[in-house]
Amino acid sequence: MSLREQQNRVSEFLEENDMQAPPEFRIMDFISEAGEIVKDAVKTADYGEAREDLKVKEDEIGDVLFSILAVADALDIDAEKAFESAMEKYEERIAEKGDAGSGSH
Ligand SMILES: [Mg+2]
Repeated sequence: MSLREQQNRVSEFLEENDMQAPPEFRIMDFISEAGEIVKDAVKTADYGEAREDLKVKEDEIGDVLFSILAVADALDIDAEKAFESAMEKYEERIAEKGDAGSGSH
C-alpha cells in the first residue's frame, strides 16, 4: 500500500470513528507519540548508562507514522508528495555536497 493510500486509510478511519480533530491537536498528538519513542530509548539505555541496550518498540514507530499521517490529513497535505520532495532534496544535497544535512541543524 502506498503512503497516499495509507494516508487515506488513516483519514477514513478517523472520519468513520468520529475522531477528527483540528491540526493543532493532531500536531500535539504527534509530538506526544514522538516523545514515547524518546521515553523508550532513554529508559532502555538507562539514561545513557547502557547505550548498547537502547530499544524502541515497533508499535511506537507505528504510532508516530499514524499520527504524522493524521497531521498531514488535518492540514490537507499529501504526505506522499511531501515525502518524495524530502527524498529528492536529500538526494540532491548528497550529490552536490556529499552531505544530506541542511547545515543549519
Ligand atoms: Mg505510542
